[in-house]
Amino acid sequence: MPEMACPHRCVFCNQASISSQLHAPTNKEIIEKIESHFNSFKTENRLVQLAFFGGNFTGLTIKQQKSYLQLVQPYLKKGMISGIRLSTRPDYIDATILQMLKSFGVTHIELGAQSTSDTVLLASGRGHLRDAIVTASQQILAAGLVLGLQMMIGLPKDDAETAMQTAYDLVTLGAKETRIYPCLVIKDTDLEQLYRTGKYTTLTLDEAVEQTASLYTFFESHGIKVLRMGLHPSEDLNTDALVAGPFHSQFAELVYSKLWERQLLNFMPWPKSESIEVFVSPNQINHAAGFKSQNRKLLEKSYRKVHFKSDESLIGRSFKIKIHQA
Ligand code: SF4
Repeated sequence: MPEMACPHRCVFCNQASISSQLHAPTNKEIIEKIESHFNSFKTENRLVQLAFFGGNFTGLTIKQQKSYLQLVQPYLKKGMISGIRLSTRPDYIDATILQMLKSFGVTHIELGAQSTSDTVLLASGRGHLRDAIVTASQQILAAGLVLGLQMMIGLPKDDAETAMQTAYDLVTLGAKETRIYPCLVIKDTDLEQLYRTGKYTTLTLDEAVEQTASLYTFFESHGIKVLRMGLHPSEDLNTDALVAGPFHSQFAELVYSKLWERQLLNFMPWPKSESIEVFVSPNQINHAAGFKSQNRKLLEKSYRKVHFKSDESLIGRSFKIKIHQA
């Protein structure tokens, strides 16, 4: 859903560039997209959901919302999808809309909260304040739907401390899921003007990774699922439209790598030795060794040989080390 139905212009947003679409998707396009996704992965033993993302779904007329939701009902009825999720703005939700969405099989609603600081929300031209996020979150929970609250880092007037306060608020508001998006400067946005006139400075990539890693750890410790970090380049961002900012095509990998760097450094220094084996859960081995092996290289400053090995008994970022004396 490109910027259809959205009367706002957040300083950072040019949905046309982000979604690479200039028009509302037709029914035919929606069905083709769904079918192409079904053809691209195995569905056995997987929970499959259908999502309407981008723009502002609940800002569409009720007739349009129902029409889109009606279109995908056959997938629900056949059990091909387990539910529908959608993203929208906090100030476009009310109890009547929520009941309608539920009746069509919507199970998850993600609000683009971005920040819970009124200063940041005002500077970002969001067109709503923190109160709207609080009220919408309460209504979504009261309707028995799963609440997701998305946030951004590096917005105008934001900093690491304010972003952490936002994360704390999202947990307190009852979010079960989040997405963390670093703010980027996209062509033809107000933020581009602010950036070009020196009134806005982007986060560096390192700063964005550091902040996101801290937020991830915080959310993880509160049982909040982080569904995404950064933008997916092919699906979401026409990189020609990117002016500046901490964009990286494998942003999430950089964050996972940073989490492991912190984890490993936390337990160092280890006894001096010639070589070391680091045992980690099989699904963490690449993250542990680091993006482009950066964590391995870090350890190689202290140990001549460093091996990362799988150990199925380990979970999360727990690890064991075996030090081989020379
Ligand atoms: S509310 Fe969403 S779609 Fe509308 S301008 Fe802001 S970010 Fe873009």
